Amino acid sequence: EYELKGNLRMRDTPDPEVEKREQRIPKTMMITGANRGIGLGLVKHFLEYDGIELLIATCRNPERADELNLLRSDKRLHVIGLDVDNDDSIKKVFDEVSNLVSSNGLNVLINNAGILLPYQVDGQICRKTMMKQLETNSVSVAIVTQTFLPLLKKASNSIDGDEVRIDRSAIINISSTMASIAKNDGCFSGPMTAYRMSKSALNSFSRQCFMELSKYHILVTSFCPGWVRTEMGGENADLDVNESTKTLSGNILRLDSRNNGLYFDRFLHPIPN
Ligand code: NDP
Repeated sequence: EYELKGNLRMRDTPDPEVEKREQRIPKTMMITGANRGIGLGLVKHFLEYDGIELLIATCRNPERADELNLLRSDKRLHVIGLDVDNDDSIKKVFDEVSNLVSSNGLNVLINNAGILLPYQVDGQICRKTMMKQLETNSVSVAIVTQTFLPLLKKASNSIDGDEVRIDRSAIINISSTMASIAKNDGCFSGPMTAYRMSKSALNSFSRQCFMELSKYHILVTSFCPGWVRTEMGGENADLDVNESTKTLSGNILRLDSRNNGLYFDRFLHPIPN
């Protein structure tokens, strides 16, 4: 049985200072794992912003993504098949997205696709499970990000000056409070071991992106969306998808240099790595 202890309960309230910040709207965005759960919720909320001209929602099986496909009446939405664990698929999507975004480049990449495969130190040793988890949640994010970097650079280069802002160029990694080594109090302990490791590796990658990409004025942040009722989060989770993704999408659009390189809950309270 999962047990939610104190450390995973983030300060569950909006920050009035954050809410006062102006939202800035990027022209082009891409989200992975957009057919269900948090990815789909983010797509729905981002489509509410008129300034977004192109929203690329990727998923493994577009032909089965019924709820996402229903949103295609909005012509700004493009649904493209992408398995983040498959290099050929990533390359193919890069070509398609390059054509779609053309000279604007890609302003925002949201690495949302993720998996949770149970593994425990005490009782359940499985190399395959651990490796798959690390692959999808961290290695694949690194490969997708590296592949799409030329499009993020293109978007950034089209703006003069040194300012770092969400409507210029950004990489947003959907992590989890479980990634925090500092906050690991054994909450949900047991089956989350490999998941925690994979998301800590993702946060390490985010920090490295920040170190290497600051010179291109590309913003990099990691987020925990909260404990959300999705296939992954389960039915006992705190939040429904709409609650989590409304806050998350709204605050993603408030990101600027103050947030660069950091890891946040959905209200933009920092989480220690
Ligand atoms: P779901 O299980 O509901 O959705 C996961 C999504 O990731 C699906 O769209 C799934 O696609 C996709 N995905 C998995 N593997 C791949 C792959 N190889 N290629 C492409 N897409 C893939 O999970 P959530 O919506 O809850 O999770 C979204 C993100 O939020 C994850 O990164 C998760 O770790 C994170 N998160 C979730 C929390 C929660 O409480 N729910 C808490 C903290 C973080 P398909 O339908 O094809 O399987």
